[in-house]
Parts: sequence; C-alpha cells; structure tokens
Amino acid sequence: MASMQRSRAVFLDRDGTLVHSRRYPSRPDDLLLYDEIGAPLRILQEGGLRLVMITNQSGLARGLFTEGDLELMHRRLAAELARSAVRLDGVYYCPHHVDGTVPALAVACDCRKPRPGMLLRAAAELHLDLERSWFVGDVLDDVEAGNRAGCRTVLVDLGTEQPPRSPLRRPAYVARDTAHALRIVAAREGLGPAADLGYRPAAWAEQSSVSAPAGRLARDR
Ligand SMILES: [Mg+2]
Ligand SMILES: [Zn+2]
Repeated sequence: MASMQRSRAVFLDRDGTLVHSRRYPSRPDDLLLYDEIGAPLRILQEGGLRLVMITNQSGLARGLFTEGDLELMHRRLAAELARSAVRLDGVYYCPHHVDGTVPALAVACDCRKPRPGMLLRAAAELHLDLERSWFVGDVLDDVEAGNRAGCRTVLVDLGTEQPPRSPLRRPAYVARDTAHALRIVAAREGLGPAADLGYRPAAWAEQSSVSAPAGRLARDR
C-alpha cells in the first residue's frame, strides 16, 4: 500500500479542448469531440498515462442544466471516446459559481479553475503523481490550475488568450490544436516522435519569454 506506484496523468479540459467550444452545452448532442484526437489519446493511455477530464460547469450553478443532464452528456462523450478505444479514468467537474442562481452552488469554492482543487482531489483519489502529470487546456485558467498543482502545462491555442502576465499562467508549451498538444505530451513522455515545441500564438509574437518556466525543460529530460 505504502509503496503503491503513483501514476502519471494527462488532465484534459472539456470545452474547447476535448470537444468543440460551445456556450453552455446542456445536451449530449452539444458535445462534439474533435475528430483527430482519438488516436493520440489512445497512445498516451496505452503508454500508462491516466486520462482525467477536469471541467468547470458553472451552468449547474446558473440553473442551465442539472447534474443528471451532465451525466447524460458525459456518458455520450465516453461512448464517443470508446469508439477510439479510449477510456476516461476520471471525470471531475466544478458545479459552482458565485453568481449562480442555485443557492447551494452559488458559492466560492476551491475547485473552480484556475484553482487546483479538482486536480488535487483527482491525485488523491486516483493515486496520481502531479509533478509527472500534464494539464492540457484552451484557456490560461487551465494553465494556472495545472501550474498551481505542480503539473506541466500545454495551452491549446484557440486564439482567445492574451500573453500571460504572471509565471503562474505561463504554459510550458503552446499547441495549435489539441492533437498537437497530445503529440507534445507523447514526445516529452517518450511515447511518440519529436513534436514542434516552439509554436506560439501570433498575438504573443511581441512577447519573447513565454516559453517554459526556467528549469522546467531541463528537469523534464
Ligand atoms: Mg475550455
Ligand atoms: Zn467548485
């Protein structure tokens, strides 16, 4: 028990990262998985990395859908992933928002990204090694949550994010899409060929220091 080996994980944001962006998806049909990510997810899973979805779902606090609705949506997503022989090892969502209309959920919490609560809980429940894990997401709140938890981070560039102003919001890598992000993780984990590690959003061009935090690249080798 005490010597149980902790697993590496890839934490994955849902909206904009696993599925196409949409405003407050509430039905299974609203979740449209990106086409090209099944195979790279399977490579990571077969390589021993746990796949854990981490998603803010303030629509619950706002009363836009119920936990039952969310369960149906995630069941569909699991079925879609299963077509590529991919299984999510964990699904964590934050139902809270301070501006919510559902009183029990309209609270400040430790789990809403950019806070790292969901990652810390997943690490405890699934026996994950956060320092050897990754967070892949499409906004800097994802990056911050990952960095706060001690993970390595990849931002998927959907063109929405300004250059990060604080080191906590600085991703180790930026990817042009989720498939690229997964190739970066595979390359860094020795599970795939070399990947383009130098991509940066066009809007960040004037900033030169958005690469990995000092020491991080060296430690990864
Ligand atoms: Mg997202
Ligand atoms: Zn929360």
